[in-house]
Amino acid sequence: MKTSADVVIVGAGVVGLALADAWLTRHPGDHLVVVDKEFTLGLHASGRNSGVLHAGFYYAPDSLKAKLTRDGNRMLKEFCNERGVTVRETGKVVVTTSSEQLPDLEKLFQRGQANGVELEKIDEAQLYELEPLARTHEQALWSPTTAVADPAEVIEALAQRVVERGGVLRMGQSVVGVESEKILLSDSETISFGHLINAAGLYADTIAHWCGVGLEYKMLPFKGLYWYGSWEQGRLQRHVYPVPDSRNPFLGTHVTVTVDGRAKVGPTAIPSLWREDYGGLSNFSASEMSNIVRMYPGFFASKHHNVWSLLRTELPKYSRRKLLSEAARLVPSINSQDFETKGRPGVRAQLFHVPSGRLEMDFVVRQGSKSTHVLNAVSPAWTSSLAVAKHVVEGIESETLTP
Ligand SMILES: Cc1cc2nc3c(=O)[nH]c(=O)nc-3n(C[C@H](O)[C@H](O)[C@H](O)COP(=O)(O)OP(=O)(O)OC[C@H]3O[C@@H](n4cnc5c(N)ncnc54)[C@H](O)[C@@H]3O)c2cc1C
Repeated sequence: MKTSADVVIVGAGVVGLALADAWLTRHPGDHLVVVDKEFTLGLHASGRNSGVLHAGFYYAPDSLKAKLTRDGNRMLKEFCNERGVTVRETGKVVVTTSSEQLPDLEKLFQRGQANGVELEKIDEAQLYELEPLARTHEQALWSPTTAVADPAEVIEALAQRVVERGGVLRMGQSVVGVESEKILLSDSETISFGHLINAAGLYADTIAHWCGVGLEYKMLPFKGLYWYGSWEQGRLQRHVYPVPDSRNPFLGTHVTVTVDGRAKVGPTAIPSLWREDYGGLSNFSASEMSNIVRMYPGFFASKHHNVWSLLRTELPKYSRRKLLSEAARLVPSINSQDFETKGRPGVRAQLFHVPSGRLEMDFVVRQGSKSTHVLNAVSPAWTSSLAVAKHVVEGIESETLTP
């Protein structure tokens, strides 16, 4: 069977749906099709994340992340408000685990200022007022605009708005190739397109390579594990985060509050040997494992990251006790008896620049001929999704995206 569409989007995660929404807002009569290999929404990162609406103070001021997270936070809150999706305005504190981290805390504060994000330096007494369970050494940061929502509710509401705007969702159809302006689907159907947008998350590199784009990049997956606390709802009121290691794109073990007031520890950033590694041998792929293993010598040799230190810090977190003891450095009342309920793990699609051995820290979008590829939709792309989509659609229209 052959079909055609003005625009085909691969991936009905939050980024693909936000792109569909943004495109249809600006091109209301277009025939737009979103294709996803799963029958259900939210089976990958967009349904398996912490649901934290980040404020945007971690990122280098000239980065896409800085601008699109600050704007995305506001846009996602407006969207949730419009669609009746609950947002819990928890705010967040960033605490130090030793006074040696104070210079890094100061740098984070300066970044917040440069990024135009509301952020306050607080002392131990002010921290106690905001979140009595958290501890710091001398100083901490308070981010009032960080919040939380349920990722599953957000993605359902976004899909609904796409359909209301005339978009077509094709669920349960896998894209298995791209050739001469058409996509090939697993059931032998083809869809020819005026423009293709690739938002395939963990497989965004594969699809880009089929279009001859981003050949210097490959995806390195990192697994995030979570444990829920049995504490009464509302006992922890604020998200509590450590000062991150600036050499890695991850924020370190943190403690968050869910939208219904439960406490949650995680996620980890443990290297995975295949992409959809959610537990046991689920979705195991020997060819993916072999490709990923072959990337590690380049990663170890990287001058951009301290890979041994990352592995030394992250691998022990497979142990629940170890992960919880890390979290207890931020919130001392956390103990292993109270955090025994495993959360749904997620896998981060982290883009690796093979020639330099660098994990890309910023969002990466590349333009091909009649195709656009969102290659590094890493955290906080859930928060930033609506702003990322606006940026990409405007970039396609003005032909200003990087080839
Ligand atoms: C553990 C964890 C915690 C996180 N916490 C946060 C947080 O608190 N706040 C935040 O802002 N961000 C967070 N993130 C990041 C956020 O979840 C992602 O940035 C975001 O969900 C990426 O969305 P996406 O649409 O690109 O990817 P996905 O949700 O993975 O969607 C990609 C879609 O493409 C489909 N697909 C793939 N290949 C094909 C194919 N060949 N054919 C058809 N369909 C295909 C998949 O089925 C999938 O549905 C977290 C991520 C993880 C993993």
